[in-house]
Amino acid sequence: MDFSTPISNIQNIGPFYEDRLKRLKIKTVGDLLFHFPCRYEDLSEKTTVSLIFSEGKYSIEGEVTKSSTGRTPRQNISFSEITIKDNTGEIKAVWLNQPYIAKNLKSGERIIVSGNVKHSRDGLQFINPYYEKTKKNFSENKILPIYPETRGVSSKWIRFVISPLLKDLDTLTKETLPGEVIRENNLCSLSQALREIHFPSSQESLERAKKRISFERIFLLQLSLLRQKVLLSQKKGIPVPVKIEKVQDLVENLPFQLTGSQKKAAWQIMKDLEKNTPMNRLLEGDVGSGKTVVAVIASLSVIKEGYQVAFMAPTEVLARQHFDEIAKLLWRFKIDVGLLTGKKDKLRSKKLKGDTLEISRKKLIEKAMEGEVELLVGTHALIQKEVKFKNLALVVLDEQHRFGVEQRANLCLKDNSLIPHLLSMTATPIPRTLALTLYGDLNLSVIDEMPKERKKVKTFLIPRKKRNQACSFVKKEIKKGRQAFFICPRIEEGEENPQSPWKGLKSVEKEKERLAREVFPDLRVEMLHGKMNTTEKEKIMKDFKNKKIDILVSTSVIEVGIDIKNASVMVIEGAEMFGLSQLHQFRGRVGRGKFQSFCFLFTSSGSKKTKRRLKALLSSKSGFELAEKDLEIRGPGDFLGKRQWGSADFTMDALKNRHLIEEVKEAAKKILEKDLFLQKYPLLKKRVDSLKDKLHLE
Ligand code: ADP
Ligand code: MG
Repeated sequence: MDFSTPISNIQNIGPFYEDRLKRLKIKTVGDLLFHFPCRYEDLSEKTTVSLIFSEGKYSIEGEVTKSSTGRTPRQNISFSEITIKDNTGEIKAVWLNQPYIAKNLKSGERIIVSGNVKHSRDGLQFINPYYEKTKKNFSENKILPIYPETRGVSSKWIRFVISPLLKDLDTLTKETLPGEVIRENNLCSLSQALREIHFPSSQESLERAKKRISFERIFLLQLSLLRQKVLLSQKKGIPVPVKIEKVQDLVENLPFQLTGSQKKAAWQIMKDLEKNTPMNRLLEGDVGSGKTVVAVIASLSVIKEGYQVAFMAPTEVLARQHFDEIAKLLWRFKIDVGLLTGKKDKLRSKKLKGDTLEISRKKLIEKAMEGEVELLVGTHALIQKEVKFKNLALVVLDEQHRFGVEQRANLCLKDNSLIPHLLSMTATPIPRTLALTLYGDLNLSVIDEMPKERKKVKTFLIPRKKRNQACSFVKKEIKKGRQAFFICPRIEEGEENPQSPWKGLKSVEKEKERLAREVFPDLRVEMLHGKMNTTEKEKIMKDFKNKKIDILVSTSVIEVGIDIKNASVMVIEGAEMFGLSQLHQFRGRVGRGKFQSFCFLFTSSGSKKTKRRLKALLSSKSGFELAEKDLEIRGPGDFLGKRQWGSADFTMDALKNRHLIEEVKEAAKKILEKDLFLQKYPLLKKRVDSLKDKLHLE
């Protein structure tokens, strides 16, 4: 047996549970062992009822003496109420919204209860505590791991199926970390860490286990990032001298004044372009903060020195949008700009006296090879084999992050030992604190101010009762000629997991039908979601842009950079399901034109915490501030991708621990200095390589 053995080979797992575990994406022994608890209940401090004098966290063990369900008088919320008795007295425990608990806990059963005790009309009682049935005198584990649950797979059951694996854990587990890293950083072995994570023997050893696991995850990440960096620094770039006069003309003739941070970012980029190592810079800035023009300034200075620029967008619609804008900005300089998407390719050229002409794909590629097209905007069509540039010095990437050194080299016709500079742009704000800890040595430019005259998007939190009023408002806006977005959290009504936080939320399909039929019967309502194919999506976006659609109902797929100046309302269903910075991104899709724009956050959650969180959006904050808040409230998962980091909160917390990050960085540097390609560490190499493809940044 090893980590790749299917779970069906484990004792006690039959087809029934196999199926349930598969729903948790647990298919192998390794998956099961890396299915980590989301928290722990510490019962080592178990107390007795007579010692509960005030509110706080407690654990007790006793017998159920009464068990009933009921409904709260005012809000009509169902609840379970049980009474637990130990040798010293009785106390009540109450669970809101979980009537099945009372049915599950009958009089006479022994349980442990652990959680918050609060004052109520009936005196002190447990509110929504963790509970578990026990056999007499519970003593096996004092620190109980609690796993993220799904129906039918309880924490207790997971412990039960993992326990037989423990005796073979040492032979089962292959150590990932090199021996010297373990020794020098005083870490425990992987098998020991796994044992402690699932069956902690004490708080101290659990902490050590968590540290070990977090260390490993950050270590892999650092190895990958640092190695990329070393490899890149060994490559030669194309130094492009900075002559500020060259771009002065463009800057002075813009229809607006650049903001301070736009100027600063442009300057930082041009300084990088001068170097003979290839630039690798990320430009971060809120939606609408004006990143494109910064990239155009850099492009112009490159073109004026006789080099070419490739400008890549994630979709055809965005590529066309960029082409139109860039061609307009650069026309005064008699620069030939092309658009390569695979469909209706275009050229705007001095020979054509500034007219835009449709051109065959073949011709356009020829012109790139001859160096005649000086700036080529495109989609992924740009990186197909046939596309080569005569003297490419800069690649600009809008909203996409995966672009390796080799891909850059492959774009060059002649000497592909020279790597073009790379400027990557994103509106996803990685909070500074996280960027610094993780990508401390990445080159980062930040645009953190908005153009002055931009109108703030007026944002409202709409309770259920006021939805109709909000929809009437939308109607009025559309009558005025505007357009609206409706964002929904899910695609379709699928198999329902009763514990899923998405349950009961509006799906795009249903919502589109409902809006079209009941709410806006005389308007043109269409939908957009990730399961549609690219052609369908692009058609819908094009129609929306051309005002053939009034209301676009969409999942979160709707593109970040899309510039629809006529849209003035953004309605977000189930707003509580999104992170603040994501909500901010959605909001950024309106308010791009001259009209006052509005954002309505619909929420059905009555929770105070949710309201407080969403209210942060009302007082128009910058994406960065909101990202920091998200990091604080939700952890770094939103920024790194949940799957990759697993569900365990402790690895997320570790990312905020600068001391640990420094330690890990040092360890990673040391290993790479000795063995850049990890040839002596095959297992480590395999894991780092598989991580490389998933990383957000190069
Ligand atoms: P993003 O950063 O989201 O890519 P864009 O580059 O698309 O933003 O810019 C959004 C709009 O703002 C464009 O129409 C652009 O011309 C305009 N813009 C850019 N910089 C400024 C500025 N300093 N003042 C006013 N408008 C600006
Ligand atoms: Mg953009």
